[in-house]
Amino acid sequence: CGIVGYTGRPGAAAAVGHSALDVVMEGLKRLEYRGYDSAGVAVLTPGGVDSRKKSGKLANLVAELEAAPLPDATTGIGHTRWATHGGPTDGNAHPHLADNDRLALIHNGIIENFAELKAELLAAGAVFRSETDTEVAAALLGSIYAGAGNKDLALSMQLACQRLEGAFTLLAVHADSPDTVVAARRNSPLVVGLGDGENFLGSDVSGFIDFTRRAVELGQDQIVTITPDSVEITDFFGAPAEGTEFDVNWDA
Ligand code: GLU
Repeated sequence: CGIVGYTGRPGAAAAVGHSALDVVMEGLKRLEYRGYDSAGVAVLTPGGVDSRKKSGKLANLVAELEAAPLPDATTGIGHTRWATHGGPTDGNAHPHLADNDRLALIHNGIIENFAELKAELLAAGAVFRSETDTEVAAALLGSIYAGAGNKDLALSMQLACQRLEGAFTLLAVHADSPDTVVAARRNSPLVVGLGDGENFLGSDVSGFIDFTRRAVELGQDQIVTITPDSVEITDFFGAPAEGTEFDVNWDA
């Protein structure tokens, strides 16, 4: 339902006095107006991916983060879920993990062909821990990434998106690329927020409005890879693509 992503250099403006997690949690609060039944976050740590997720209000996730804090990080993603496949439980909340829990993925929308893909992935030995369509996208991306062995998350996202049907905004992070968030969209919105030494992603500009007013709206069937210093957009087949740049000029 609501999606936020962030990656920044330690000295970047939004990160001064904050961690990536603080920036992501601010964005999720701004997106609360959309309604949701669960929330979750993941950060990249030197050793891997660490996540927390909880059904109910953001306050439940905040309490969970107080009880079991996440380490300081410069890259993170966050999601508020409006359940469509699988009830609003902690386990069905996003992020969903794959590739030995080194990859985390969040998703807005519905993967229409999830049942067929799930059967295929189960036959290949994948293990599922939720009832969501989203975890199928995570497992597919994880299996493509692990199988390719090239540690190219953006290329793996292209290959995964070529197989996914329906409506989706996807954000993925992998422990192998601790300063990178890869995102994709089809029939569901995705906006990049441009910063200095930091970049943002949101399902709408509310996700980063407190930190930057420079935005790029992605077009249909596009993939974007952000690092603190770069934003690269392609289509689902790797051809360079462009979004639509605009300034957010309303008061939040
Ligand atoms: N279909 C996904 C789920 O039920 C994502 C729902 C959403 O857009 O929040 O988990």
